[in-house]
Amino acid sequence: MEIRDRYAPSPTGLQHIGGVRTALFNYLFARSQGGKFILRLEDTDRTRSDAAFVHNLYETFAWLGIPWDEGPDVGGPCAPYVQSERFGIYREHARRLVEAGKAYYCFCSPERLEKIREEREAAHSGETGYDRRCRDSPPVEAAGRLRAGEAHTIRLKIPLGETTRFRDRLLGEIEWKNEDINPDPVLLKSDGFPTYHLANVVDDHLMGISHVLRAQDWLPSTPLHVILYGSFGWSPPEFCHLPMVMGADGKKLSKRHGATSMDEFRRQGCLPEALLNYVALLGCSYEEGKDLYTLKELSERFALEKLNKAPAVFDYKKLEWYNGQYIRMKADAELAALALPFAVEAGLFGGPGKEPAPAEAAAFAAAMPLIKERAVFLREIPEKLDYLFAEPAVAAAAEFIPKKADLARTISLLRLGRDLLGDLAVLDDAAAEALVKAKAEAAAVKLGDLLMPLRVAVTGKRVSPPLFGSIRILGAETCLARTGRALEALETAAGTDALPGAL
Ligand code: GLU
Repeated sequence: MEIRDRYAPSPTGLQHIGGVRTALFNYLFARSQGGKFILRLEDTDRTRSDAAFVHNLYETFAWLGIPWDEGPDVGGPCAPYVQSERFGIYREHARRLVEAGKAYYCFCSPERLEKIREEREAAHSGETGYDRRCRDSPPVEAAGRLRAGEAHTIRLKIPLGETTRFRDRLLGEIEWKNEDINPDPVLLKSDGFPTYHLANVVDDHLMGISHVLRAQDWLPSTPLHVILYGSFGWSPPEFCHLPMVMGADGKKLSKRHGATSMDEFRRQGCLPEALLNYVALLGCSYEEGKDLYTLKELSERFALEKLNKAPAVFDYKKLEWYNGQYIRMKADAELAALALPFAVEAGLFGGPGKEPAPAEAAAFAAAMPLIKERAVFLREIPEKLDYLFAEPAVAAAAEFIPKKADLARTISLLRLGRDLLGDLAVLDDAAAEALVKAKAEAAAVKLGDLLMPLRVAVTGKRVSPPLFGSIRILGAETCLARTGRALEALETAAGTDALPGAL
């Protein structure tokens, strides 16, 4: 049997973690089985579906690097893959069910349905759904009303007094009393549009879908789908309802938990590899002790047997960890290319939207080793490096002062540091460190005390990316100028410009 599965989103919102998880698991399952992964747009809700969301879907999956084998944009043997282009097929199938006595025309008006609801509510009857009034009306009567052009829907005749059973690949045997299924749900609406149930089942069958992997909140629809398959005389596909994705508080993942849309993750500078790696672990365990997987490795390892029954928890800290790992794996040039749009947007090169001059682009690329070990998202990179592209304001005098030192001593330390700048600008890290150590020893000061004022003078901050690398990128001249300005400010603060060079 050919393995075929699908991602069947309704384009009624932005792509988010839950949808991407469903798509990814379908992709991985198809790849692991040598099967086909299909994209189908379930846009039967014409009021909520929007072309902008379809665009967002294409963009998201192009960015993630997840292709489908068949779909609206790439075509395939079961085209069209957009439900709004298949309405004729659904009508025809609904009619077929009526002819077979498995479905029926219902002429009940929305007002009547609303009235039943109100009466039941008033009587606290607990009953819900349709009262099956048209279920057994004679076919000739229905034919007459149809001819007269009366508005109607087509409803599925749920077999009464039976139990529907199916096996879920993750959850095992599931049974559902037919009495507990929505009584005779609508398949075709009065405007001729199909409901989700009809379109979904007809398409999964006609598109040869062998496995339906979808989130567990669709489980209540499955007994109805199984009945629908049976009514058509088709065998249902295999079902596997994926564990839910929750926020850290155990509630269903939503905006409350922070970013959930792919757009937001992209805006933060999440790397697609990191996101995919992390999402692949939401509800599936691969190998003990291994955290980092390429898409290819995931495709080779994915198996339905490895899915977890328990809900998965979306943990931002873990995603941050993954992103950091993938940032560290990037070559400097690639990381610079990825981070550059964020720097341009943040205005690092003279204002928002300004592209870097060649020397600035080179400095930005050269700065990647400075932030690589610490950056979590690409978005934070520009602000960490702002002092490389604009003269930082001279910090307040107190910022320069190392622990247990005073201003006079700080000035002496900074002068000492200033004298090293010419060498530091051309030495590599190891040589620079040896030089500074020797100087500190000779002057009987602590290494940290020597470096602190110099760091604040050069970068404007007490905590900054590595100082030696920063000095190399800025060059001796710029660093000397900054240090000179810092010294002036400190000397003014000390009320003298002639403190003894005590060290
Ligand atoms: N259109 C449904 C959705 O938006 C598809 C559910 C299914 O996979 O059957 O998720």
